Amino acid sequence: MIVVFLGPPGAGKGTQCKLIVDRYGLTHLSSGDILRRERKENTELGQKAQSYMDSGQLVPDDLIVAMMMKEIGSQSSGGYVLDGFPRTIGQAQELDKALVAAGKKVDVVLNLEVDDNKLETRITGRRSCGKCGTAYHVTFNPPKTEDQCDKGCGALTQRPDDTSEVVQQRIKTYHEQTSPLVEYYQQQGNVKNVNGNLDIQEVTKALYDVLDGVKTSA
Ligand code: AMP
Repeated sequence: MIVVFLGPPGAGKGTQCKLIVDRYGLTHLSSGDILRRERKENTELGQKAQSYMDSGQLVPDDLIVAMMMKEIGSQSSGGYVLDGFPRTIGQAQELDKALVAAGKKVDVVLNLEVDDNKLETRITGRRSCGKCGTAYHVTFNPPKTEDQCDKGCGALTQRPDDTSEVVQQRIKTYHEQTSPLVEYYQQQGNVKNVNGNLDIQEVTKALYDVLDGVKTSA
């Protein structure tokens, strides 16, 4: 099963993806995570992506498409969830072309809808542990001791693009460049809208209901 996960920054795609991939035996392919890894390793791609990411802009299509095609091509079997890719019509067209050439298609597009006024609080409160990767939220899922990982790893960190200034730009970028993808995929007839304003567990249930009903081409 090939799943595209759409939704604004802070919609909860990352959290939900972790649950979905476990239940359906899929691989989680997050373009944001891959870019952050490239930056940590200080690769040429990581260096090129840095200024775009830190200002809430999209990294140019040619760089992202090459990066994601390599990642998708290395998937030997089974399905995957694309989280954060495609983010422009151009990227979606390139993905479609590559899938058609491989005799595959996007089986379902999950569109997680969240009101804009909820996004900023969700994003700016996010913290994570750089060592073990555990995610927290200062209000909704706080650590036992402020700013410290519950597993004893030490201080928590905030993504540099999770600050209020950058968040506003990321939301704007989403509306301008990524939300037109909903219509693009609606024309292919495979979009499922899910209300992302609800509690995490309720959203998970709604996503499972959709995915349980998906008939894959494979
Ligand atoms: P994310 O973790 O998905 O919020 O992505 C973090 C940042 O990485 C974004 O704000 C963009 O700068 C960049 N990025 C991630 N995925 C893409 C993509 N598909 N196209 C362009 N830029 C991307």
